[in-house]
Amino acid sequence: MIDIKNGISLLPYNTLKMNVKANEFVEISSVEDLRQLSSQKGFPERKKLVLSAGSNVLFSDDFDGLIMHNAIFGISVVSEERDQVILKVNGGESWPDLVEYTIGQGWGGLENLTLIPGKVGAAPIQNIGAYGVEVKDVIVSVEAFDFIIGKQVLFSADQCQFGYRSSIFKTTAAGRYFITAVVFRLSKFPRLNLTYGPLRQAFEGKTSVSIQEVSAEVAHIRRSKLPDPEVIPNAGSFFKNPIVDRTLVDKIKVNFPDLPLYQQNEAQVKLAAGWLIEQCGWKGYRMGEVGVHEKQALVLVNYGQATGAEILDLATEIQDSVLDRFGVILEPEVNIY
Ligand SMILES: Cc1cc2nc3c(=O)[nH]c(=O)nc-3n(C[C@H](O)[C@H](O)[C@H](O)COP(=O)(O)OP(=O)(O)OC[C@H]3O[C@@H](n4cnc5c(N)ncnc54)[C@H](O)[C@@H]3O)c2cc1C
Repeated sequence: MIDIKNGISLLPYNTLKMNVKANEFVEISSVEDLRQLSSQKGFPERKKLVLSAGSNVLFSDDFDGLIMHNAIFGISVVSEERDQVILKVNGGESWPDLVEYTIGQGWGGLENLTLIPGKVGAAPIQNIGAYGVEVKDVIVSVEAFDFIIGKQVLFSADQCQFGYRSSIFKTTAAGRYFITAVVFRLSKFPRLNLTYGPLRQAFEGKTSVSIQEVSAEVAHIRRSKLPDPEVIPNAGSFFKNPIVDRTLVDKIKVNFPDLPLYQQNEAQVKLAAGWLIEQCGWKGYRMGEVGVHEKQALVLVNYGQATGAEILDLATEIQDSVLDRFGVILEPEVNIY
């Protein structure tokens, strides 16, 4: 039975700890809840938003619409073979708990994605990634409820149009679907990905490395670099790493020969947004209740009572200074409402 509440505070539901209210709020614990909701008159046109753990959102103001909080739980093994497991995980499950569970079972594939906050249903939205791995590498399919036709639909991994911090759910079909479950292919004979420098260095010279060890190392690196939102509210990387033309990179390198870069293809290069921001002098900056984290310039933080407007002002100032200095446009990774 769906129970829509009015005037609910979203403070417990976003890791940037924006103290805003939602006009309407409903807990979704099954696909049936979605069916009931979508059968209401005028539902497709209604202003609405799916909210999972709120670790990748910035509420710039009260939300004048319906928040659908993702609480569909359950994990099941679809099939198990000698070398792989197909696992279906409902959207409301915690991502870090899922990673821990799969590692406990000895199933490889998610170890590099240890400790990324959030829920499973949100993982495909921006194709979460860390330390050389993206979730698309292990996704078989995505189950979603289509608000327009009022039915469940199935996306193959290809149909999700995954890209760097992107998918169809964040671009052309943003807001159209509620991801109810994700199906993963995990390996019983894991092939480790140690392409990320610090991870490779940590295991230099070791002949055999386990997924448990990789996961523990990733957890160690993350804890040493990233602020815990429970201690200093934040939403992780505020901006995406920009992908720019080689010609621009050549120009920047004249004045900044140490520019870190990651070749994408012949014509395009990915730059480290954190490095660009740091070069503009923002690392550790604080203005009242908002700031740039002292260890990671890509993370904007709320020191307590910051408003969405203050965070947005700081983000704009950072974007302007990076554009001025390097001619590079920084796009937010965080979803702004
Ligand atoms: C400290 C910290 C570190 C982080 N590190 C990383 C990292 O290493 N790599 C990385 O990729 N991300 C990282 N993030 C970002 C974040 O963890 C991921 O984007 C995560 O997937 C967000 O999950 P969530 O449940 O909090 O989603 P939310 O913030 O609730 O939602 C994010 C977006 O997805 C939509 N959405 C959520 N659930 C659904 C659903 N079921 N169906 C349809 N739409 C939905 C929402 O409407 C919103 O637009 C980090 C965040 C923090 C705070």
